[in-house]
Amino acid sequence: MKNRLRLAPSPTGLLHIGTARTALFNWLYAKKINGKFLLRIEDTDVSRSKPEYSKNIIEGLSWLGLNWDEDPIYQSERIGIHKVIIKKLLDDGVAYRCFMSEEESQQLREDQKKNGLPPKHDNRYRDLSKSEIESFINEGKSSVIRFRIEDNAQITWNDQIRGKIKWLGKDLGGDMVLSRRAYGDDIGSPLYNLAVVIDDNFMNITHVIRGEDHISNTAKQILIYKALRYEIPKFSHTPLILNSEGKKLSKRDSVTSIDEFRDMGYLPDALTNYMTLLGWSPKSGESEIQSLEKISKIFDLKDVNKAGAKFNWEKLNWINSQYIKNMNSNDLLNIFKILWEKKGWEIPSQQWGLNLTLLIQDSIIVLSDVINQSEPFFNLPEVDNKGLDFLKNNNVKSLLKYAIDLLSKKSQPINRNDAKEIIEEISLKYEIKKGILMKSLRIAFFGCLSGPDLIESWLLMSEKDEDMERIKRCLDII
Ligand code: GLU
Repeated sequence: MKNRLRLAPSPTGLLHIGTARTALFNWLYAKKINGKFLLRIEDTDVSRSKPEYSKNIIEGLSWLGLNWDEDPIYQSERIGIHKVIIKKLLDDGVAYRCFMSEEESQQLREDQKKNGLPPKHDNRYRDLSKSEIESFINEGKSSVIRFRIEDNAQITWNDQIRGKIKWLGKDLGGDMVLSRRAYGDDIGSPLYNLAVVIDDNFMNITHVIRGEDHISNTAKQILIYKALRYEIPKFSHTPLILNSEGKKLSKRDSVTSIDEFRDMGYLPDALTNYMTLLGWSPKSGESEIQSLEKISKIFDLKDVNKAGAKFNWEKLNWINSQYIKNMNSNDLLNIFKILWEKKGWEIPSQQWGLNLTLLIQDSIIVLSDVINQSEPFFNLPEVDNKGLDFLKNNNVKSLLKYAIDLLSKKSQPINRNDAKEIIEEISLKYEIKKGILMKSLRIAFFGCLSGPDLIESWLLMSEKDEDMERIKRCLDII
């Protein structure tokens, strides 16, 4: 059978980094084994699922470049089929109606707590007679459908990441609920463990790769696979993504949705490359920075770690900066232009924009850094206190005056040689260290002692006819 993998997100929130990483591992492994990667939106929980979340998940996966084959399946469209199968399980006697009320459940939980026992359903409605069931239905009582799980059932599978996994029926919390509460002889809407098995079978899924929080669900699902005589797929459970405290990364950890990463200025290729390292790493000697196509060739589930993967911002930043460094500068300029336009900043020419891009490209970590780093080229910066002290303490008034004299004799805008000549000439005349002069000019252009290459920056400012004006401004304040 052809290999088929899938991502089955629930649209109950924005696309989360954990779901995106699961998508990525499925995508990589599908590529590796020459299979298909499919998408199924698990939107059966009407109270929590929202179309805007489905849209966000679909857009986020596309932005990351994790494209899927075939049309996405919406699970809500298959509820009728799920119900028919639940009915079959009822008829076969593998499932039954459980009439336990909310009050009864609460009482059971309280009793178990009092006796120091873990919460577990006690299967009390398991063996009702036909007439008992009928009379409960006639009384208008509500029920859920439960699937029998024998305490002594043994469930094992060979997890492609974790090796052999064993579960005992008694550790699965009692008979499993297949559908939500309904009245009379209705069958309520199907729940995850039932729907996932039916749909994975319907979609001919051969490999299920999902988070380790689903391990006990897998044990339950295998029981359903067996009851329905479906072929069981291969399972793999990926490690969780952890925050810096070693706890599961959650919404409380500030940035977790793919949108937020995009808005902060991470590139999709850098983010997916970083995500490959959340639980997997290339063999020693191989670069961590590689395209997904290349990684799909060396990626293997057996090399995925079992232990949780700590989210590391520094690593992500480093990878992103490497991608930005290696980007074609014209492409990067196109991104910068959008960000500059949003600020209302105009570039005098395409070449000027490209030169500024080349000047700052290597020091950009996330795209949004471009704002801070390029602002002095668009707006006149205030001179900070350190800069002001430097200008005052080093007696630079006459140097700057001379710089203006020399500048006004050059044709504008100046070129690299002009700038170098001016610096040489001033240092000779005043017998000062070039450093003092360069720092003074830097303060004039940037308002502070830091910034990108001075000469290149000067040329950009000269092209906007702002260099002289900025030096004059310094003379006015010292
Ligand atoms: N809807 C489930 C989730 O989002 C799917 C888990 C699975 O892949 O089976 O966690």
